[in-house]
Amino acid sequence: MNAIHKMHIGSDQQALAVNRQTFDEVMVPTYAPSAVLPVRGLGLEVWDQGGQRYLDFTSGIAVTSLGHANPVVVDALCEQAKTLWHLGNGYTNEPVLRLAKALTDATFADRAFFCNSGAEANEAAFKLARKYAHSKFGPNKSRIISCVNSFHGRTLFTVSVGGQPKYTEGFAPLPAQIDHIPYNDIEAARAAIGDDVCAVVVEPVQGEGGVMPATLEYLQALREFCDQKGALLIFDEVQCGVGRTGNLYAYMGYGVTPDILTSAKALGNGYPIGAMITTDDIASVFVVGTHGTTYGGNPLASTVALTVLQTINQPEFLARVKQAAAKLVTGLEAIVRDYPQVFAGVRGSGLLLGMVLSDAYCGKAKDIQKAAEAQGLLLLIAGMDVVRLAPALVVSDDQIDEATQLLRRGLDAFLTPVA
Ligand SMILES: *Cc1c(COP(=O)(O)O)cnc(C)c1O
Repeated sequence: MNAIHKMHIGSDQQALAVNRQTFDEVMVPTYAPSAVLPVRGLGLEVWDQGGQRYLDFTSGIAVTSLGHANPVVVDALCEQAKTLWHLGNGYTNEPVLRLAKALTDATFADRAFFCNSGAEANEAAFKLARKYAHSKFGPNKSRIISCVNSFHGRTLFTVSVGGQPKYTEGFAPLPAQIDHIPYNDIEAARAAIGDDVCAVVVEPVQGEGGVMPATLEYLQALREFCDQKGALLIFDEVQCGVGRTGNLYAYMGYGVTPDILTSAKALGNGYPIGAMITTDDIASVFVVGTHGTTYGGNPLASTVALTVLQTINQPEFLARVKQAAAKLVTGLEAIVRDYPQVFAGVRGSGLLLGMVLSDAYCGKAKDIQKAAEAQGLLLLIAGMDVVRLAPALVVSDDQIDEATQLLRRGLDAFLTPVA
């Protein structure tokens, strides 16, 4: 009976032929995916429906940092899948406790809250910051300061805190008491962080906002102003965390410690998980029933995240990320020199890099991404003026060489007028 049932499901799935066109027929049109439809991945390679191979320098937006179908992660997930999937919050589970121990041992934090995405991790962080201020200082300390061009997720609270007006258009009324200041501007921060501020949130490296690293002085100043005004400093490390910069978390490279940190994306290598970590004191205002989620920290996600964390949080692993990043930067800077009409420069941190377009090619990031894809190289963009690269952290020297060659070919094709 079981076997027959299984065969039935299998054959139904086979019969459901789908392609890129299907997206336009049955999906809510919130995305405009590429014509390329990947069906399989291994390491930094993916193959599409037609069997065409691509070198993946996106990692699904800095997510699959250990590569596609990483055997160690696959084994951990499959073993856990045979053991225990889910319990719900009436019971805790061993994998989530191991993960929380590992994450707090490795960072400034004493406590962890798990959820399923970066937006949810930030939602928890913003709610916690408001709750903390209300509990400790009363109702008049609820203002949140965030940066222009920042990205914190797509829930109503997180788009409101995010610094990109296009993502809040049409969703009013929005949560109130949120101000945006220019990134890396110390004087603007000094002026904005008053006594009514409960939290300042910042990405140590702005990802969606154009791959822009914070200056050391800026993060130090935010720490100082927050301490002076009794505001919490929140680092959104959803994109730049989990080894991406060559440090386990970017804050470690700066030597500036936040009060709350959010992590997601690479934490699950593609298995959905988010984390908000903080200190004992701050966590203590979230009591039983204050906040929660059904799936957060379930055994499957926690097992994967623990495996990812243990793999990445090794000195040799992180040293190799820095070495690979240096090689990639060298290759990209040579491209900038050889195509000065197209690019103004390279910026970023570790293996989160952006090639900034020149004024003449302003707005053309998508076209360059498409040109690279046609040569078999998958790239990201960050806005319309920055081509973003975020290869898996396990990228080899040969793959870095191949990527720069493919990008050069893509640029040559892009610059050749069509006859
Ligand atoms: C991607 C991202 C988020 C949102 O994460 P989701 O998992 O998409 O909800 C939040 N902050 C930053 C910095 C991100 O890059």
